Amino acid sequence: MNKGQSVNEHHFTLSERMKILSAGTKYDSCNQSAVCHAFGPDGRCIQLYKTLLTNACAGECTYCPNRCGRDSTKATLSPEEIAKITWSFYRKNAIEGLFLSSGIIGDAEKTAEQQLEVAQLLRNQGFTGYIHMRVMPGTPRYLLEEIADYANKFGVNAETTNSVNYSEICPNFDYNKDVLQRLQWTRDLINKKRKEAGYGGRIVGANDTQFVVGALSEPDRDIVRTVDRFMDKYELRRPYFMSFDPVPSTPLENNEASPHWREIRLYQTSFLLKDYGLKAFDFDAIYDDSGLLYDQDPKMLLAQAHPERFPVDINSASMGELLLVPGIGPVGAKRIVQSRPLLSEKELMRMGVVMERARPFIEINGGRQTNLASFLGAGS
Ligand code: SF4
Repeated sequence: MNKGQSVNEHHFTLSERMKILSAGTKYDSCNQSAVCHAFGPDGRCIQLYKTLLTNACAGECTYCPNRCGRDSTKATLSPEEIAKITWSFYRKNAIEGLFLSSGIIGDAEKTAEQQLEVAQLLRNQGFTGYIHMRVMPGTPRYLLEEIADYANKFGVNAETTNSVNYSEICPNFDYNKDVLQRLQWTRDLINKKRKEAGYGGRIVGANDTQFVVGALSEPDRDIVRTVDRFMDKYELRRPYFMSFDPVPSTPLENNEASPHWREIRLYQTSFLLKDYGLKAFDFDAIYDDSGLLYDQDPKMLLAQAHPERFPVDINSASMGELLLVPGIGPVGAKRIVQSRPLLSEKELMRMGVVMERARPFIEINGGRQTNLASFLGAGS
């Protein structure tokens, strides 16, 4: 029995434990139902059975409902039970895979052994669905290597932007050694798997991490810079963000909740970093005085902050210029470039362009329907 399991352990039915442990994933960026949405390897949103192995954690993260010593309902699922539940959802087409995280069962090594066992059970029984594994900080390299043989996506939560902040909220681990070093290893293992021939035909996903937003006073500017750095250094594709919500009987219980929109704006910003070729410094013009994003679409704010970049002519603009136009995404920009010349708004709408957003920022062969200055003057 681990340190965290001493509190309030009961004998629950399987479905009661499933419910408790799906709710226990609250701080692994998702809702609290057993089936949640996550980003697949191609960026597509997929449905996963999301659970913890246990919420009886030996760790003491200051924001977490599962922290050791907190008087709360504890439950555990065995690797066999999780494999069985995953199969039963999968056979009913209710999910496309599994997202597995956990509280710390004794230490990171023992926890990863059980996570690995779940993945092995599933794959050895012919499971071809998606396996997304959130491993503990400090997981030994030999276990990460084994997990890489079975999981599509795996990584460690960074939670925050630097080691000082990290030691404040996650006192059991070392940011540089237990988190960043592991993100480097998971990056290398994913790359190795991608290169290996005969990797069972499975799509190898990407490195994975998550940030808790608002547990500390760190501004969005720091989070965006960290995400940008992680994308370059650890080849992070899609970071996850989780708004801080104070949990009773934790050291941060009296702190203010972070507004949910902050999480949404950070997601939008991370998409702009990943899919639109922007860099962290591009956003410097759109933070408030405290370095926080506004509750407005960051791409629209960026365009409004740089009127000198517009209008762009749909028939001569580069891909990069098109991508800066609100209402034009990567797919739309590609279609525009492939289908030129385009002569009407109707044609642009067929390419997926949202004209209400794009109109003030574009022209078609020199002609414009809405002037940017009048658009900005209208306070849109
Ligand atoms: S390691 Fe920290 S964040 Fe994860 S379950 Fe334990 S206390 Fe919570």
